[in-house]
Amino acid sequence: MAVETKTRGIFIDGEWREADRGKTFAVRNPATGEILAHVADGGVAEVRRAIEAAHAAFPAWSQMTADKRATLLSKAAQRMTERTEELARILTQENGKPLAESRGEVASAASFFQWNAEEARRVYGEVVPTVASDRRVLTIKQPVGVVAAITPWNFPLSMVTRKLGPALAAGCTAVLRPARATPLVAIATFEIMQEVGFPPGVVNLVTGTDSAGMGTELATNPLVRKLTFTGSTEVGKLLLAQAASTVKRVSLELGGHAPFLVFDDADLEKAARAAVLSRFRNAGQTCICTNRVYVQRGIADAFTAKVAQFASALKVGNGLDPDTQVGPLIDERGFEKVQAHVEDARSKGAAVLTGGRPARVNGDLHGYFYEPTVLANTTPQMRVMYEETFGPVLPVMTFDTEDEAIALANDTPYGLAAYFYARDVGRIFRVSEKLDYGIIGANDPVPVGAHIPFGGYKQSGLGRENGSEGINHFLEVKAISIGL
Ligand code: NAD
Repeated sequence: MAVETKTRGIFIDGEWREADRGKTFAVRNPATGEILAHVADGGVAEVRRAIEAAHAAFPAWSQMTADKRATLLSKAAQRMTERTEELARILTQENGKPLAESRGEVASAASFFQWNAEEARRVYGEVVPTVASDRRVLTIKQPVGVVAAITPWNFPLSMVTRKLGPALAAGCTAVLRPARATPLVAIATFEIMQEVGFPPGVVNLVTGTDSAGMGTELATNPLVRKLTFTGSTEVGKLLLAQAASTVKRVSLELGGHAPFLVFDDADLEKAARAAVLSRFRNAGQTCICTNRVYVQRGIADAFTAKVAQFASALKVGNGLDPDTQVGPLIDERGFEKVQAHVEDARSKGAAVLTGGRPARVNGDLHGYFYEPTVLANTTPQMRVMYEETFGPVLPVMTFDTEDEAIALANDTPYGLAAYFYARDVGRIFRVSEKLDYGIIGANDPVPVGAHIPFGGYKQSGLGRENGSEGINHFLEVKAISIGL
């Protein structure tokens, strides 16, 4: 799909449709403010119809052999890979991230389809040793039913396939509601699924602006058996409460506040490069992004100087420019939050080592660009140290002992990703085990992939995506006891 001024958005029962009252909404490029497309503005009624289509398609899809479902997912993965450039350009234009990152996202999105195609063939049951000689017990796994998926704007492609991949592989049918800001790459993905031949009703898409209304319908409609959501902790809690009324299965991938610890035995150069990569990719708008750095006192000055040097060298600009390393923030609200966090830290005594203001792009001050920023002399009382900034700001604080570093790292209601750099193997095990986080990057700034379980402790979520357990969240276990 080339980005055009009027495009689709609602795909129900194998057909593209307009919104009921023909309404559309504009999708804008956050780098330029230009309108990229007008997309169907669906609402509760369209969501309800999509759920009904998914419900009607469930018996045939769930009874299709896993092998056939796997073949369709593999074909979709292959088409996505073949269309990498086109998908990456759409992604960069609606989200703002640099093209190189968008290409990476297309690759990971395709890998989620491919991984789950392979997992589909290995949904095994068990024969359970009997306790009574006249009975035999076995278990089988069956798809949970209709899945509702709600995805965010920061990874508008890979979050779609990370949810639909295991749902479809397991034999579930699905309704997707993509983020309002970034529906275009989701639409392109549905065009691919249509092209490779997913049967009507198996996957349905409803774009629209009524986030709360559509979310409530997806979380409460009795035909939906499973809700999977990626987004903020605030909205996740709301959906979890709504889903309780029908006891839906729920998976939540929510906010994070990742700590990054640097111990005095670390490779400083690697640690500094990793902290910058982890903080500034996607302009800091990643749930597993480093939010706060704690560095051991003896190496603090040397480490912080390197981080400031690397961060100040990053090129800010339009993601379509091949030199760009940091794109714009998604919208005005995101931009204002970054400014507020920096001002709060400054007013409480933080030193701004680099950045600290809106960025000039081609000499102009464009709305949503912010300079990569490194703050020193930070304290736990500053908002950057406990709230998700979701922007290009890296605060650094010092610590003295391993126990103190772990206590600081764990002092948060979040528990998604944590990073540390150290070379002592005992420390690597000790610290990994003591951090209350679902994902640990020990000397690894990108601890993710289709093969790695992804999910959070505490208020960062429920359940896991990816890895060998990902598909299990879309399956029920049925016990069958047979009297002989
Ligand atoms: P968000 O919670 O505002 O929105 C997420 C999705 O929910 C969007 O589709 C949005 O339109 C929809 N939504 C908004 N209000 C809703 C409501 N009342 N009812 C139902 N749906 C509603 O989050 P966001 O700003 O799009 O994304 C950023 C957040 O997502 C951050 O907190 C980030 O950490 C988190 N995130 C988590 C992961 C993860 O895997 N853990 C991945 C990416 C982003």
